[in-house]
Amino acid sequence: MLIKAGDSVVVISGEDSTKQDDGTRKVHTVVQVDRAKGKALVEGVNLVWKHVRRSQKYPQGGRLRKEMPVDVSNIMFYCSSCSKGVRLGARFLDDGSKERYCKKCGTSTGRIAPPRAAHAKK
Ligand SMILES: [Zn+2]
Repeated sequence: MLIKAGDSVVVISGEDSTKQDDGTRKVHTVVQVDRAKGKALVEGVNLVWKHVRRSQKYPQGGRLRKEMPVDVSNIMFYCSSCSKGVRLGARFLDDGSKERYCKKCGTSTGRIAPPRAAHAKK
């Protein structure tokens, strides 16, 4: 999984995937990623009503809007130069470090691993 917290993503499946009037999908930000479950918590996506009982924290109780994690297969990384959801790849750089890149246009989206001699180009 190449999605990380802080990434911009578009939702491609489910009720939050509806296209806007101009035919594009809304861009959201990933809050948190659960690698073991393959899920991501995305801002403003998959909202549910959470019913809370009266407590110290919520003296009134009531209903709260809250995001639930979505499966990463239902979101795509948003590439700002392609202005759409794209698939990501990972590649080694000459110094042996690893980066993520947009498979469509090849733009790097930043390094994901420090340089390692074993992967460096001689
Ligand atoms: Zn791109």
